[in-house]
Amino acid sequence: MKDAKDLEFMAAALEQARAGQETPGGAQVGCVLVENGAVVCSSFNEGDLQCDPTAHAEMVGIRRLCKERKSTSLKGITVYCTLQPCGMCTMACLWAGVSRIVYGAARNDVNSVYFESRHFDTADFIHQAFRDDLDVKGGVLSKECTSFYLKPEDTAPNDPAHDVTSSPSLS
Ligand SMILES: [Zn+2]
Repeated sequence: MKDAKDLEFMAAALEQARAGQETPGGAQVGCVLVENGAVVCSSFNEGDLQCDPTAHAEMVGIRRLCKERKSTSLKGITVYCTLQPCGMCTMACLWAGVSRIVYGAARNDVNSVYFESRHFDTADFIHQAFRDDLDVKGGVLSKECTSFYLKPEDTAPNDPAHDVTSSPSLS
């Protein structure tokens, strides 16, 4: 039952990814927040739209729903995202107290440009934040989700987070 629902809500997240792709300044990462079996918030990446490098799909959704509810707690909410949440979004989920994270394409399915260079895995973050009770499930509609992103072997455009000239020297 939970699996069938996961497919249904990931399909809704894919719709958001499509909307992000078609929106100038948006990007093809989609997210829906679900509570008691119903979508309560939908979002996509609005980074360029808002000139905000933190406006990932999950961040936009969390901010939108918290503001609407005048609350900092999203307890009981499941976050569905077409791409494995990055470190920032995982931490935001922890701060918001969400109960479950479900994602489609995993970090290893896509180009490294989508993730911070020194990556902590989503599950590591949760473990290290002592939230072992937060359920994480990946690979839902993986093929459909992965089709939105550059492949690991593709050449990715430069962006500030991946500019090697700005990396701190290790010497
Ligand atoms: Zn993110």
